[in-house]
Amino acid sequence: MRRRGIEQRGVNQRGVEQRGVEQRGVRQRGPRESPAVAGDGAAPRDPADPLLSIRNLRKSFGANLVLDDVSLDVGQGNCVVLIGASGSGKSTLLRCVNLLEVVDDGVIELAGTDITDPRVNADEVRSRVGIVFQAFNLFPHLSVLQNVTLSPIKVHGLPRAEAEVRALAMLERVGLSDKAAAKPDELSGGQQQRVAIARALVNSPVLMLLDEVTSALDPELVGEVLSLLRELKDEGMTMLIATHEMGFARQVADTVCFLDGGRLLEVGPPSQVLHDPQQARTRQFLSRIIEAARL
Ligand code: ADP
Ligand code: MG
Repeated sequence: MRRRGIEQRGVNQRGVEQRGVEQRGVRQRGPRESPAVAGDGAAPRDPADPLLSIRNLRKSFGANLVLDDVSLDVGQGNCVVLIGASGSGKSTLLRCVNLLEVVDDGVIELAGTDITDPRVNADEVRSRVGIVFQAFNLFPHLSVLQNVTLSPIKVHGLPRAEAEVRALAMLERVGLSDKAAAKPDELSGGQQQRVAIARALVNSPVLMLLDEVTSALDPELVGEVLSLLRELKDEGMTMLIATHEMGFARQVADTVCFLDGGRLLEVGPPSQVLHDPQQARTRQFLSRIIEAARL
């Protein structure tokens, strides 16, 4: 079987679902060369190629098919927003891209490398793909600075001094350099989430995954986190974001994807998916969100 992905490049427009482009039953892989991840010795790439290319992804938990033939491209510097009801598979999709879940079938290419290949170094992928969760998941007994330096020191073996320089630059970036010595519980929820974002940025990722990062915040703290995401997008960061913040999606997303029961039902620019949805299920979901926002 051919090395997957190569011949599909150029077939897909950014963000447009390509269900049925490839039908495979069994996972098969090419010769066992050691794959390079995202630029570390990889062949030069066409900047027009998607940074992230998900093909025919399937994932089940037992009998529960959670991702059903999901195909999606995320172009370099683009912001793709996932919307959908609770349980539709948004978190699982993000977790698959970060290799926190093992996929059952399909391909996930990051900068041209299939990261589902078992020979790929998962730590290396995770340093290039930052992930931020709804619950900030900071270590409460560590200072803000120690939370941010943990992965550069423990996973990447960076000397402490170098890791601290990087971490302080990231804390500065998220507007929290004055909180480096604080413990997480001395910070507001919005500040804790910004620390979690700094922690994800510290390894210089090429892609950021954000999973409902404002859902646990008090309403008055949501804005500071969304502003930070908007700035990251303006600086060229590529982002895949699960969120219920429709205003943010409308303003910042290049592409909005509606997930329904593990299928990507509708994909397109916000003006289309949010304002002129083609599918009844999308309309139903959006009207429920609008209704909830009114209450
Ligand atoms: P969303 O983020 O859109 O709310 P999830 O990806 O969290 O959806 O969940 C999709 C489905 O997968 C749900 O039915 C959920 O119960 C199930 N699920 C998620 N994670 C697990 C897991 N670790 N084990 C079993 N089922 C899971
Ligand atoms: Mg979720």
